[in-house]
Amino acid sequence: MTARIIDGKAFAEGLRGRIAGHVQRLQREHGITPGLAVVIVGEDPGSQVYVRNKARQTVEAGMLSEKYELPAETSEAELLDLIGRLNNSDRVHGILVQLPLPKHIDPNRVILAIAPAKDVDCFTPESVGRLSIGLPGPVSCTPLGCLMLLRDTLGRLEGLNAVILGRSNLVGKPMAQLLLRENCTITVAHSRTKNLPEMVRGADIVVAAVGRPLLVKGDWIRPGATVIDVGINRVAAPEKGEGKTRLVGDVDFEAAAKVAGAITPVPGGVGPMTIACLLANTVTTASLINGLVPPKDLTP
Ligand code: NAP
Repeated sequence: MTARIIDGKAFAEGLRGRIAGHVQRLQREHGITPGLAVVIVGEDPGSQVYVRNKARQTVEAGMLSEKYELPAETSEAELLDLIGRLNNSDRVHGILVQLPLPKHIDPNRVILAIAPAKDVDCFTPESVGRLSIGLPGPVSCTPLGCLMLLRDTLGRLEGLNAVILGRSNLVGKPMAQLLLRENCTITVAHSRTKNLPEMVRGADIVVAAVGRPLLVKGDWIRPGATVIDVGINRVAAPEKGEGKTRLVGDVDFEAAAKVAGAITPVPGGVGPMTIACLLANTVTTASLINGLVPPKDLTP
C-alpha cells in the first residue's frame, strides 16, 4: 500500500485564494479591510523570516499589514504600550506577537495584554475557553490547518479514533479540542505515556506534534490510517555534503507512507497551512468585531 500524499502547500494556496475572495466581499459589502499587526522584538533570524512571510501573504490576500520591528532592548512596558495602542486601533483586527521574546519580557504578561477579540494566535485564556466550549472566535492556527487537511482527506471525522502526540498549548491541546468537536474519540499522548506504539496502532487518525525527529515508526501505523505530521526538525544530512542539514517531521515518512492511507510530508504538509490559517483567523476576527458572521469555510 502506498499512502496518498496530502499536499498542504497546494491546499494552503487554495485557502489563501478563498480568503482573498472573503476580503474583497468584506470591502465591497461592508467597507472593512481586515488588518493584521505583527510585532517582533529582537533579531532572531528564524522569526524574521516568518514575520516577512506573514506580512507578504497578508498583503497578497488584500488585507492590511502592519509590521512593528522593535529592538531587542525594548522594555516590557514599551511593548505593552504598543499592544494597548493596537488593541484600540480601528485598522487592526488581529495582533500577533512573534515568540520567543527576549528574556527580560514576560511572554504571559504580553499575551494577557492582547484584546481577546484580536487574538489571532488563540493564546489568551478567553480564546482558549471559547474554543473549548465551541463559541465563535479565532482558533489556534496550526491545529486549524490540520483539521482542514483532515476534513479534506476524510470528509466526516465522526466516530474515528484520533491519537494526538504532544500536549502543548500551541498544538496538542487545541487539536484535541477541535477533534473532540468533530466527534472523534481522542487520546492525547505525551512524554510520560506508556505503550505509545500500541496506542498509535489503534488510531484512524494520528497527529504527531512532539518535535522528535522520526519518532513515529512505520510499524506503529494502522494500515489505511491518516497521518498528520506537525513536527519540524532540522537534522544533519551528510548525504548532501559536510555540514548540510534537512528538515524532517516527527514521523518516519518513508516507512509510514507504505502503510498509511494518507500522510502529510515535511516540508510541504502542515507548515504552509499555519500562515494561511492566521489570515483566516484575521478575517474571522474582523467579521466578529464588526458584528458579522465569519465565513463558514474559515472556521471549524
Ligand atoms: P512542545 O511545546 O515542545 O511540546 C512537545 C510535546 O511533545 C509535549 O507535550 C511533550 O510531552 C511531547 N513529547 C516530547 N517527547 C515525547 C515522546 N518521546 N513521546 C511522546 N510525547 C513526547 O512542541 P510544540 O510547540 O507542540 O511543537 C511540536 C512540533 O511541531 C515541533 O517540531 C515544532 O517545530 C512543530 N510545529 C510546527 C508547526 C507548523 O506550522 N508546522 C507549528 C507549531 C509547531 P510533555 O508535555 O510530557 O513534555
